[in-house]
Amino acid sequence: MSTDKVKRHNERMKRHKKVVDEKIEKATIEQGVLIVITGNGKGKTTSALGTLLRSLGHGHQCALVQYIKGQWDCGETAFFKNKETSKDTQLVTYTMDTGFTWNTQDFEKDKQAAQDIWKQSLPLFSNPNCNLIVLDEITYMFKYKYLDIDDVISVLKNRPKHQNVIITGRGAPQELIDLADTVSEIRPIKHAFNEGIKAQEGIEW
Ligand code: ATP
Ligand code: MG
Repeated sequence: MSTDKVKRHNERMKRHKKVVDEKIEKATIEQGVLIVITGNGKGKTTSALGTLLRSLGHGHQCALVQYIKGQWDCGETAFFKNKETSKDTQLVTYTMDTGFTWNTQDFEKDKQAAQDIWKQSLPLFSNPNCNLIVLDEITYMFKYKYLDIDDVISVLKNRPKHQNVIITGRGAPQELIDLADTVSEIRPIKHAFNEGIKAQEGIEW
């Protein structure tokens, strides 16, 4: 690079650093956050799992609550189930795996399964030691009216101040977006599946 270009680059970086430093200085509130990862692109659940891993790595107490059990046995479920039983991790998992009748589309049974897992997970939201709760695919529970959005909003509002929650799923309701501190919408630009590439273990599930 020419010395002129290097000089301009350094000046730009200096200005950028100033802006970032000012923002860091202003961000003084200490509290947990509600994160919503929504949209039609790939990367919602895997993003939440990445954060879960990050938090577990710091030895935090975490919970993974999965609202839809897919067609296949997910790698993450298998991985975390093993971890849960080992003494050195701080994770509890709930999966809607028994009695869930997604494939049969039995409204009452599906609703019951959703309600059951919600009720099982409720103590987490009053446990100040639980640092992070992932509610994977919960957005569909609102769409199908298996869970009442107002109930969930009220529990989220009353959770311990330092507790973090991540919600994933397409079509996040506006009420959740309004309540959230961080919202990311993952937009599909391309997906291999649409080009006829077969779904792979370890990538898709
Ligand atoms: P991932 O679990 O890979 O992060 P996701 O949580 O963003 O995906 P979901 O809507 O939960 O996406 O769908 C889960 C499955 O569907 C994954 O196997 C994913 O690869 C696939 N998938 C996600 N988005 C698309 C898409 N736009 N087209 C086709 N398949 C998709
Ligand atoms: Mg997902």
